[in-house]
Amino acid sequence: MKDAILKGFAEDKMTKFKNTLNTRTNHIPFLDLKLINREYEKTINEVLAKKVSSGWYILGEEVTNFEKSFAEYCETKYCIGVANGLDALVLLLKASGFPPGSEVLVPSNTYIASILAISIAGLAPVLVEPDINTYLIDPKKIEEKITPNTKAILVVHLYGKCCEMEPINKIAQKNNLKVFEDAAQSHGALYQNKKAGNLSDGAGFSFYPTKNLGAMGDAGAITTNDDNLASRIRALRNYGSGEKYIFDDQGINSRLDEMQAAILSVKLPNLDKENNIRQSIADRYLTEIRNPAISLPFAETVEEDVWHLFVVRTKDRGKFREFLMQNKIGSDIHYPVAPHKQLAYKEWNTESYPISEKIHQEVLSLPLNTTLTEEEVSYIIEKINQY
Ligand SMILES: *Cc1c(COP(=O)(O)O)cnc(C)c1O
Repeated sequence: MKDAILKGFAEDKMTKFKNTLNTRTNHIPFLDLKLINREYEKTINEVLAKKVSSGWYILGEEVTNFEKSFAEYCETKYCIGVANGLDALVLLLKASGFPPGSEVLVPSNTYIASILAISIAGLAPVLVEPDINTYLIDPKKIEEKITPNTKAILVVHLYGKCCEMEPINKIAQKNNLKVFEDAAQSHGALYQNKKAGNLSDGAGFSFYPTKNLGAMGDAGAITTNDDNLASRIRALRNYGSGEKYIFDDQGINSRLDEMQAAILSVKLPNLDKENNIRQSIADRYLTEIRNPAISLPFAETVEEDVWHLFVVRTKDRGKFREFLMQNKIGSDIHYPVAPHKQLAYKEWNTESYPISEKIHQEVLSLPLNTTLTEEEVSYIIEKINQY
């Protein structure tokens, strides 16, 4: 597998990235969306021009086609396109019909959207600490948070790595809970040979432009194998209407639009190839970065993760980031402030989630994307080893 990845990387480097070094004079940005999308630009322009002259702009064949291909990709029965990743999670929870105020367990270190979705759906988020090695929800800490009011667990496959679904699904079964995945950072990630999005009762995806599969605007989707959930979500995303002008539920307007669906259909066939490039860079970082001041991310195998982000930890993050900046290497922080410390959740501000706080204080994301050349990766490794 690793050889195949590296071979793919070498071929790609020859064709796609030939000019990268020339265009990036002497600075490696954390992310360069313009360059990431350059290889798709011509095809996307053609597809969009056709769409403009078609006269059909909402819930047409582009959305239907993308839903079909993305369900096939995730190996789920259904995919329902929606307006963004947050709505995908909100609609999953709303369609499940839990009584208002029901508790939903969610990791304490995640992007705030996972938690907001629960609040917006009229439910109560309950935070569970992560495992310090994987940064993912700790299955051993789930049961102590379950009360008679708990209805579901919303796991987050953070940074591109799947959560430990086997123990989590067992706990859920034993306690009669639903399980949902926030798969916004894990398009194509594997767990026991099954794809993210196919590991629970239902999953929410985001196609925000920076994600592994990114649109050129907001877009999202839900995947599920549950007939009932799928048809309820399909209605809820369109004002609660199953049949035209008949409203059985109070839904919202959260339709995936035809233009974004068309763009996603152009990019989806390359997703595995792009994920392979990410894996080959992650593999190099993991084997070649050797600096006791820098903790590398945990990975049992490089191939199951899709490395949405390559997140290291270091005691003095500010100093390390400054060092990278002086060496013209971009970086980012995912995320600087823990959700329970945000003003948006004032009621949690005095609570203590030490593992989550440590993670938020120490993490830094290195550049990891499909536009990096092998030379750039070598340069980043060399500099980090000198730090
Ligand atoms: C991006 C992201 C979301 C939200 O997706 P949007 O499309 O921006 O609404 C939710 N959860 C996680 C973990 C994300 O990374």
